[in-house]
Amino acid sequence: MERPERECKNFCGEPVEYEPHKFSDGFVYYLPRNLDKTIHNCPFVLDMDDQDEFDDLIIQAVDDPESVYYEDIDAMEQQEICQDNLFLWSIMLDEIHQYDNNGISLTIEDLINTQNLISNWTGPFFMGNCHGVYENITPTNRGYQLEILGWKYQIIGKYDDAKKCYELQHEISEELELLGVIHKLNKKIDKLEKYFNLKNSIVGNVSQDEIEKIIKKTELKLRKFITTLYSGKFERVWDRLPKIKESILERQENAKSSMINVNEINELDNSTLGELIKILKMSNPKKRVDKDHCNICEKSWKNNSLVYYEKIQKEIFCKDKICFIKQGGLIKDIPWDFVTSLTRINNLRNMISHDKNYDKKQIQHEFNEIRFTCAKVNLHMDDLLNIFNNV
Ligand SMILES: [Zn+2]
Ligand SMILES: [Zn+2]
Ligand SMILES: [Zn+2]
Repeated sequence: MERPERECKNFCGEPVEYEPHKFSDGFVYYLPRNLDKTIHNCPFVLDMDDQDEFDDLIIQAVDDPESVYYEDIDAMEQQEICQDNLFLWSIMLDEIHQYDNNGISLTIEDLINTQNLISNWTGPFFMGNCHGVYENITPTNRGYQLEILGWKYQIIGKYDDAKKCYELQHEISEELELLGVIHKLNKKIDKLEKYFNLKNSIVGNVSQDEIEKIIKKTELKLRKFITTLYSGKFERVWDRLPKIKESILERQENAKSSMINVNEINELDNSTLGELIKILKMSNPKKRVDKDHCNICEKSWKNNSLVYYEKIQKEIFCKDKICFIKQGGLIKDIPWDFVTSLTRINNLRNMISHDKNYDKKQIQHEFNEIRFTCAKVNLHMDDLLNIFNNV
């Protein structure tokens, strides 16, 4: 199909050039630019506030046609063209939606065909009729078609494509929220790339001897990591986990006789991997509670939502992190997948030491997996330490 090169698809009369932006799945977005290269913010596309006025105008035109000015009727006709264009976009976005909700119900070719059809006109940047459907999920929550597309790409894991959408939208409308999301996506993309390289660099089978050494090294690094996390001050940790402190002290006493320099004892020496994991879990205390508001800051939430929660002498809880900390709560923002990885490593170690009758083939696979998990965890610790050191 031929696309006229120098005419706005909304027939606003302005000459425009369509700049193609190609995505990894073949979709091409055509960004309309004025001839001076600035972005063509088509005067025929209403923004969110105008939309309400326009709806009122339609009602008025139906009730009393004589009362509507000629220019307004003209505008309404133009608006109809825009609305049709918007409608095509919403169909396309819905199809991508089905693609991610139901697995692969549409082929990529189907999608590309639909998308190419759509991209034969270039839509405006605002998507009135989709706003309600995609409420509170996109960065600006303004119903821009590109950010909805970005969000779609994001949930199917196409982060590079998502980033491109938000970058384009930022060039168009410049909201800071978009930059925030782009920053987060960059981090995600970096991390995935690191994991991917890591996975490719680790090949061959790992022996039981080797994997035990790798786990030991990870454990030692984790002790140092947690010590840094708490700046070496564990009073508040032991308030919450007195039994762990007791066990560690007991083990330290037993080990003392064999130690050369007693002064160099670190508080977490002789802690087990399982205990370290418990400390980390305690450092991100969330719970579903049968409450719907905070008595301190008066913030409310849906009953049984996940909130910050601790019970030491008395219960403290709030959905708001700052309020929870002010109430004496302890939070260290440990990502959940980090704790899950560590638990998996610990499970393997327990299995090796307790159960000797495992399936050789299966355990070899698990050894190899855990070698990767350990590498990932180490990378994660380096990243987190970088973040803490930069705050
Ligand atoms: Zn135009
Ligand atoms: Zn709304
Ligand atoms: Zn509160």
